[in-house]
Amino acid sequence: MSTSSLGTALVTGASSGIGATYADRLARRGYDLLLVARDAARLNALAEKLTAAHGIKAEVLQADLTNREDVRKVEKRLREDEAITLLVNNAGIGPKGALLEDDIDYLETMIEINVVAVNRLGVAAAQTFAKRGKGAIINIASVVAFLAERFHGTYNASKAFVLNLTQSIHAEASPKGVKVQAVLPGLTRTEIFERAGGSVDQLPPSMVMDVTDLVDAALAGFDQGELVTIPSLPDPADFEALNAARYSLGPNLSHNKPASRYGIA
Ligand code: NAP
Repeated sequence: MSTSSLGTALVTGASSGIGATYADRLARRGYDLLLVARDAARLNALAEKLTAAHGIKAEVLQADLTNREDVRKVEKRLREDEAITLLVNNAGIGPKGALLEDDIDYLETMIEINVVAVNRLGVAAAQTFAKRGKGAIINIASVVAFLAERFHGTYNASKAFVLNLTQSIHAEASPKGVKVQAVLPGLTRTEIFERAGGSVDQLPPSMVMDVTDLVDAALAGFDQGELVTIPSLPDPADFEALNAARYSLGPNLSHNKPASRYGIA
């Protein structure tokens, strides 16, 4: 049971990078923590550190999110533990190479973590929080959701899924008191590149954000009630223009006859 007035934040992928930084920042705010990832030693070390530094409670729930039984274990906790008020749906892996050379089994593993687990936990949280009339979900997507032609297909598509899912959950669940945010980092200095066999040092430094800046900006966007937070984007009007263009398609996306240019009478 959480004794924090803010409740407990369940953070997936809390053992490193963006997830570990969320854990730190949320502990500073006074949230209790439920830390999820595979590396229990790292999670325990982080839990001990944050408990000592901030006087919060931090618990570790070891789970491999490629394993559907483990995902269901996390989902069960999310549904049954009324202390949980925030899900940070963060765990994810990146691509190892170009799509045409990549190992297709690895790409399916990526979909299990970046899509199947994110969907299961995000929808479970939305259903649970909507019933309670309160709660918040932060889904970590990526700016590559907008860059289909410029990065790795399966990874881009997994992050477009997360963005789309978040916008849909917001439409249904925000009237029921659930706060929802998609965070779209650009390149961020974490282990994700090394884990995929690359190096963050090969990337142009002017494009790589420090992870603390990324998470602090994302939480500022959360506090401001943003549905979609793009920490790098200088002018939010650019994103609003994209949305306006998308909405303008709406009236013409489903008619009973094909458009005249196809020549179907
Ligand atoms: P990271 O430092 O590599 O952290 C990834 C986290 O996910 C780790 O805690 C890892 O923990 C966990 N994880 C990986 N495989 C897992 C599995 N099978 N089961 C459970 N947990 C697993 O990378 P990061 O950059 O912080 O990534 C966090 C999120 O940000 C990802 O969704 C990523 O796609 C997104 N993102 C990152 C960037 C970037 O440039 N860094 C940009 C845009 C979006 P264990 O190894 O202990 O399991």
